[in-house]
This record gives sequence, structure tokens and C-alpha cells, in this order.
Amino acid sequence: RAPFGPPLFLSAPLIPGGGRAGGPPPPLLPRSSDELAAAYAAAPEATLIAGATDVGLWVTKQLRALDPVIFLHRVRDLQQIEDRGDSLKIGAGVSIARLWPLMAELYPSLGELFRRYGSVQVREAATLGGNIANGSPIGDSPPPLIALGARLHLRRGEARRDIALEEFFLDYGKQDRAPGEFVEAVTLPKHQPGFRCYKISKRFDQDISALCAAFNLSIEAGRITAVRTGFGGLAGIPKRARAFEAVLTGAPWSEDSLRAAAAALEQDFTPLTDMRASARYRMEAAKNLALRYFHEIEGRETSVLKVLP
Ligand SMILES: Cc1cc2nc3c(=O)[nH]c(=O)nc-3n(C[C@H](O)[C@H](O)[C@H](O)COP(=O)(O)OP(=O)(O)OC[C@H]3O[C@@H](n4cnc5c(N)ncnc54)[C@H](O)[C@@H]3O)c2cc1C
Repeated sequence: RAPFGPPLFLSAPLIPGGGRAGGPPPPLLPRSSDELAAAYAAAPEATLIAGATDVGLWVTKQLRALDPVIFLHRVRDLQQIEDRGDSLKIGAGVSIARLWPLMAELYPSLGELFRRYGSVQVREAATLGGNIANGSPIGDSPPPLIALGARLHLRRGEARRDIALEEFFLDYGKQDRAPGEFVEAVTLPKHQPGFRCYKISKRFDQDISALCAAFNLSIEAGRITAVRTGFGGLAGIPKRARAFEAVLTGAPWSEDSLRAAAAALEQDFTPLTDMRASARYRMEAAKNLALRYFHEIEGRETSVLKVLP
């Protein structure tokens, strides 16, 4: 028997009851976030399935049974993008494929990052909510969104709360999400001219990041007045580099300042060696990306992928 039970996309009932005797309950298919909130509050042990680009592997590689499951693909109000003037509120069910052109316009470096996210199939299926909720230390969207100052909107039954995205990631495999609580949306500002992000992976396409770094600095009259960063692949969770940020805050905008801050990354992170990269490579690459950021903001071409006349 297929682990997901009977055909999924026909007309499965919202609430279990139609399953075969002794078999797993049929999947729940809510059509609105209100229905989802009620169904998940009633069955907080359920597995939410959005694009299934992660969850699918739990079944195909780990042979896990996931019952009960709640599919999110029919929850249309989770797929909305709301333009609020200075900010965008992006529903958890928005796919990476839809986000890519939008981000390419607002933040070209984030557009480049999404261009290199998985493959066409993965980008079409994978959702922003899934990329955040899975808590992966190497997911591509959390570092840039943390550096942008994104807010995460969570819902449990009728209760809603907003947190800074970086507060969601507590420890490896542990997020600030209660049973029955789901990610509704993410809000991010639209105008952050000092924002840049970079993905380092072994292959250009279809590869998870060895390292992802995002920088967002405000510079006034030659001084750095505000700093936000987001790093992935350097710790068990996506994180801001607080020591790096402290060195830069109030410092003059110069290569020396960036070099001093890059050295402070050693205080922020103790990366691991794994099949994607060694600890030493990760740290060196992170420091180099800080310098790359400086040169890019100064107007120098830094991409080795572009062929210039
Ligand atoms: C071939 C391949 C390539 C990949 N490449 C990349 C890549 O380049 N970069 C990258 O970052 N990732 C990559 N991934 C990982 C994966 O695509 C992402 O993590 C993806 O964003 C997960 O989203 P999803 O909608 O598919 O989530 P799902 O697999 O459906 O769910 C993932 C987790 O999030 C939970 N969840 C989903 N939605 C919600 C919600 N609204 N509220 C609460 N919990 C929720 C699920 O219960 C589950 O725990 C790749 C995966 C594959 C298979």
C-alpha cells in the first residue's frame, strides 16, 4: 500500500473518517487557512505537506509513514502575495518559482540565489513556508530573509503571532513552533539598497548550499549606521553574525573595516566539515564573501560567472 493512502487529489474529505478499516486515515485537504488551522489544531501530530520536496524524501529514503497528513496545496490564501507599499507579505504556500522573478526585480542577488535553487521541478513545487519551517541550517531563503529583517507570521487555531525570522530557529532541528502551529506568511521590506546575498555550492545548478551569506548595511556619510547579516551552513541553524555586526556598526565604510569584521566571524561560528565543504573552506569563503560585498557595493564586478567585454 502506498504510504500516502488512497489517491490524494480526488475528493478526500477534510476530516478523517473515510479510510479503510485498519488503514491510515485519508489525507486532509483544507481549502483555506481557517480550515487548516482547525484541522491542525485538532490533529497537531499530523505532518503538513506543502511542496513535498523535503517530506517526499522522508518517504522515499527513510520509508517513514506520515499519517495523518495535511496537504497544503489547496489552501489558496496561503499562496497570496500582498504588496503593502514598503513591504511584501508572502504567503507560506508561495512557490520558489513564483518568488524568483519578484525577488530578481527587488533584490537581484536574491533573484540569482533563487535561480540556483534546486531545479525547475523543485522550484515549482517547493514553498517558502516549507523552506523555513523545515529548519534546515542550509536552506537558501532564511539567511537572506534574516538579513532583510523579515518577520514570520505563525498561526495556531485562532491565535496568531509575529516574530523576527531569526528567532524562529532555536537550535539544530528545533524551531519556535508549537504543536498545531503553522507558518502563515513572511513579511519583508521592499527597499534595502545595501542588501546582497551569495550562495556557494559545488555545482551551479541543483545543489544545496555549502554556505550562504547575506549582508545588509546602511551607510551614511561614510559610516556604517546599521548592519544585519544572515549566514547558512556555518552553524546548526541559519543565524546572524553578531560579532561581525558589532565590529561594523559605527565603523567607517572601508575595506579595512570589512576585513576586521571578517576576522570576527571566527567568534560567531565554528563550522563543521561534511561532504559539502570543510570547516576551513566554509570559514574562509564566508570571510571572502564579506570582502566581495565591499567591492560589489563599491561598484566593482565581482562575479566570476559574467564574461565582460
Ligand atoms: C533535488 C532537490 C534539490 C533541492 N535544492 C534546494 C536548494 O537549492 N536550496 C534549498 O534551500 N533547498 C533545496 N531543497 C530542499 C527543499 O526543496 C526545500 O527545503 C523546500 O523549500 C521545502 O519546501 P516544500 O514546500 O517542498 O516543503 P515540504 O517538503 O512540503 O515540507 C518541509 C517541512 O516543512 C513543514 N511545512 C511545510 N509548510 C509548512 C507551513 N506552512 N507551516 C509549518 N510547517 C510547514 C513540513 O511539515 C515539513 O516538516 C532541495 C530538495 C530537493 C529534493
